[in-house]
Amino acid sequence: MAGVIRRLDETVVNRIAAGEVIQRPANAIKEMIENCLDAKSTNIQVTVKEGGLKLIQIQDNGTGIRKEDLEIVCERFTTSKLQTFEDLTSISTYGFRGEALASISHVAHVTITTKTADGKCAYRANYCDGKLKAPSKPCAGNQGTLISVEDLFYNVPTRRKALKSPSEEYSRIVEVVSRYAIHNSGKSFTVKKQGEMVADVKTLPNASVLDNIRVVFGVAVSRELIEVGCEDQKLAFKLQGYISNANYSVKKCILILFINHRLVESSALKKAIETVYTAYLPKNTHPFLYLSLEIAPHNIDVNVHPTKHEVHFLHEDCIIESIQKHIESKLLGSNSSRTYFTQTLLPGLSASVSDVKASNSSSADPSERVYAHQMVRTDSKAQKLDAFLQPVSKPSLVPKPASPPAPAQATAEVDDAEMGDAVDSLEPGASKDLELDSGHVQSETPPRKRPHIEEDGDDHTAACTRKENKDDLTAASTPRRRVIKLTSVKELRNEITEQTHNGLQEMLQNHSFVGCVNPQWTLVQHHTKLYLLNATKLSQELFYQILIYDFGNFGVLRLSSPAPLYDLAMLALDSEESGWTEEDGPKEGLAQYIVDFLKKKSEMLEDYFSMEIDEEGNLTALPLLLDNYTPAMEGLPLFILRLATEVNWDNERECFRDFSKECSQFYSIRKQYTVETEDADSPDAEPSWQWKVEHVLFKALRSLLSPPKHFSEDGSVLQIANLPDLYKVFERC
Ligand code: ADP
Ligand code: MG
Repeated sequence: MAGVIRRLDETVVNRIAAGEVIQRPANAIKEMIENCLDAKSTNIQVTVKEGGLKLIQIQDNGTGIRKEDLEIVCERFTTSKLQTFEDLTSISTYGFRGEALASISHVAHVTITTKTADGKCAYRANYCDGKLKAPSKPCAGNQGTLISVEDLFYNVPTRRKALKSPSEEYSRIVEVVSRYAIHNSGKSFTVKKQGEMVADVKTLPNASVLDNIRVVFGVAVSRELIEVGCEDQKLAFKLQGYISNANYSVKKCILILFINHRLVESSALKKAIETVYTAYLPKNTHPFLYLSLEIAPHNIDVNVHPTKHEVHFLHEDCIIESIQKHIESKLLGSNSSRTYFTQTLLPGLSASVSDVKASNSSSADPSERVYAHQMVRTDSKAQKLDAFLQPVSKPSLVPKPASPPAPAQATAEVDDAEMGDAVDSLEPGASKDLELDSGHVQSETPPRKRPHIEEDGDDHTAACTRKENKDDLTAASTPRRRVIKLTSVKELRNEITEQTHNGLQEMLQNHSFVGCVNPQWTLVQHHTKLYLLNATKLSQELFYQILIYDFGNFGVLRLSSPAPLYDLAMLALDSEESGWTEEDGPKEGLAQYIVDFLKKKSEMLEDYFSMEIDEEGNLTALPLLLDNYTPAMEGLPLFILRLATEVNWDNERECFRDFSKECSQFYSIRKQYTVETEDADSPDAEPSWQWKVEHVLFKALRSLLSPPKHFSEDGSVLQIANLPDLYKVFERC
């Protein structure tokens, strides 16, 4: 038997239709906000109870609704905004079909209180199923409109069931209101739960778009935004907005899209934009964008779906492509210099052992992608290399001609000099009195094995019968190497091992030397990446580790003439760096104290560190830490002073560590290093500092250094370019 087809009751039809238009509280609110904006409101307040299911209340200060219009305002197809179908193609207001209020009134109890500018008083009216329930009543009220929507979907249980929890509905409401607030900067919006004193979102009437984004999404995003804006006459569109730069990403893409001032969604545009960002953001992270697109009304098809979320427009592909290009150009232009200064992490180099294992097995794996935001772009037009560096003093790049060394005389001069003059002696090149005779370097230490591989345990078994004995023999290949069994030293060695950044170590081991920028900064290449290394910090760490690993096994750098500790201490105290003040007492007394103090330590210093001090209190030798490398003697006075002031001599471990830190600082390559090593005329002229950096320091860094993890974070190692990304830059040149 065929079923009887009956005509549905009209109210049921209306209800179903309304449920299609108004699917949830947030939809209703969006429609009502648009009405407020159409009515030229500048203040819109949304109050909600139970996620909008119990009550939605929207108060505006717009034009209001005339008393005579109140009768029909909730009927379908009544609108003050559209007269003919042709108007559809040129609408500039949001609403156009007179459907929103009608729909809402079919599924909820609607009350409108409104007053126009020239109305004598406000009027209140209640609606049900699109109809005015009773004639509107005069009442008190401010200009504008207050619409209350109660018990949404009270008569559509299926729709009501389909809704999420009140709190989830509320968050959708907050989202809609916030987005309209952002788009309509200059107008103030608030949204809050009924009974609450504080609004969950509140924007101010004089706030900018950026202010509002900050209010809604927080300062972290708003700081990382780039303004975008472009216009295309041919495609008849205009774009404005803010997009996150390559430094910022979120788990889920946030695209706030307004087309002709209506909050919409365009999955095509979203997809296209995400494609652009994939080149800039880490995998599975996404951008934030607020875009306001204006398209010639005749090109936009707003009539797609009653909910009008997903829009399509004419020339969609062309417009999207044009937007893509614009966004890409903005992203490229933005992440240049600023990134450089903030980028001190080295995401490309993994610190964890497991990661390294993985990358070792395929060490040139191209899939190990480094994203643009993780690196620094060098656009020669925008930045010169120098701009990245700490202020480079020109003279340090141009080696000063060395004055003829006259050690004995110079020392005598210091003796007689006024203290004021002695200060000058600390200037680079001035303390020639402390010149080293590199001819006297005794390299009696046998070449070392790589200290990192060397295990104390091995040495132990090799020489288990002999304890702390200078002549201890450990292995045939290193006949004169002493075994150090001091726990303190072992602990310091462990500390180094534990702190090693394996990725960085791999980079240092396999790098190609590119060149010295100055004594402090060196460029190296590793795979497709260019790094700027702080040679001062790296060499300091290198010397520290050598001091700890070769503890008690150093060669001797003999000074060509003994340097009186007293003079050195005085020189140091005269220098600004010493921080000496009158409260510290007379310098002479302090200097003498330093001499006496260090003399007491001389036995230990000589035994462990090959630092020799004679009976008269002269420094006669320093440890030979690296063949062909002598420290810049300008640093010697301060080194001596700091030995007395900065080293904790009471605790063995602290003492060794502090001493090694001070000593390594003294040995590290620094700006003044350029001065000392220039001695062009001499037959056994010192090689240039550049040569030393490349062939002595970096050679040692390759094999001896276990770079600590903090190097990847403190700016000691900076990645300044990555080849694939440079291609991207050049493609656009
Ligand atoms: P549409 O916005 O498409 O015209 P609506 O059902 O949303 O249809 O609104 C119907 C009419 O009610 C509007 O055309 C407008 O004249 C009036 N109206 C609704 N809300 C407001 C408001 N907040 N202020 C002034 N007029 C309003
Ligand atoms: Mg409307």
